[in-house]
Amino acid sequence: MLQIGCHLSASKGYLHMGREAVSIGAGTFQFFTRNPRGGSAKAVDEKDVAAYHAFAAENGIRVILAHAPYTLNGCSADPAIRDFATRTMKDDLRRMEYLPGNLYNFHPGSHVGQGVDAGIEMIAAMLNAILWEDMRTTVLLETMAGKGSEVGGSFEELRAILDRVALTDHMGVCLDTCHVHDAGYDIAGDLDGVLTRFDKAVGLDRIRAVHINDSKNPLGARKDRHEKIGLGAIGTEAILRVMTHPALRDKPFYLETPNELEGYAREIAMLKEKWA
Ligand code: FE
Ligand code: FE
Ligand code: ZN
Repeated sequence: MLQIGCHLSASKGYLHMGREAVSIGAGTFQFFTRNPRGGSAKAVDEKDVAAYHAFAAENGIRVILAHAPYTLNGCSADPAIRDFATRTMKDDLRRMEYLPGNLYNFHPGSHVGQGVDAGIEMIAAMLNAILWEDMRTTVLLETMAGKGSEVGGSFEELRAILDRVALTDHMGVCLDTCHVHDAGYDIAGDLDGVLTRFDKAVGLDRIRAVHINDSKNPLGARKDRHEKIGLGAIGTEAILRVMTHPALRDKPFYLETPNELEGYAREIAMLKEKWA
């Protein structure tokens, strides 16, 4: 069964997000664990969590995706910035234990001129410092557009990080269609070829979630500007091929397109109607 949702604001809590998701035809959703620019998180409201669990069970919401603030950088040249990323992610993952069995996605980081190999080592070191054996969340590396000094713009870089994490069973990948397209992987023209490359480098079984976004820019632009589905360089048909591919069709899909709630509702309805 198709699992599709979109990014929602977490400001009114989990139950509110669950209700909002269902009201727009979604069966899952993504949210920021705290202000996307960093900052402190609200205390976990256990009543809200309990009400959410009951609502999710009644409405068939199986898995949800938390997104780390995108300003965290575990491979900064500044040790204080690396330490902040480590502490923030550890805190997020502790809070995720209130919602066991879900996913936590983060942008690997930017090596800011230190070189990709140094970046990979620091990201892996951070993960080795924050993961623990009996945690119940799967931590996802997002495929990146390769803008600036971003690490994770190639599948091999993701593999190199995963190879260095001791508790690798707690790790997966979130495939972002806009990002891989902007990184130069032709998912619109050659999806099978791209997935074969991903399988060789990382393994398709590592994909635990998919961000479905069109792109404002041409293949390989290394920009990372999301577009509404059908208005960008990827196109509706290519997005549907991603969503129906045998290797991906059972994954949860999340829209991060430039939309308000009504726009998301329209995109979800359109994709559900065409998905088969
Ligand atoms: Fe992201
Ligand atoms: Fe994304
Ligand atoms: Zn993006």
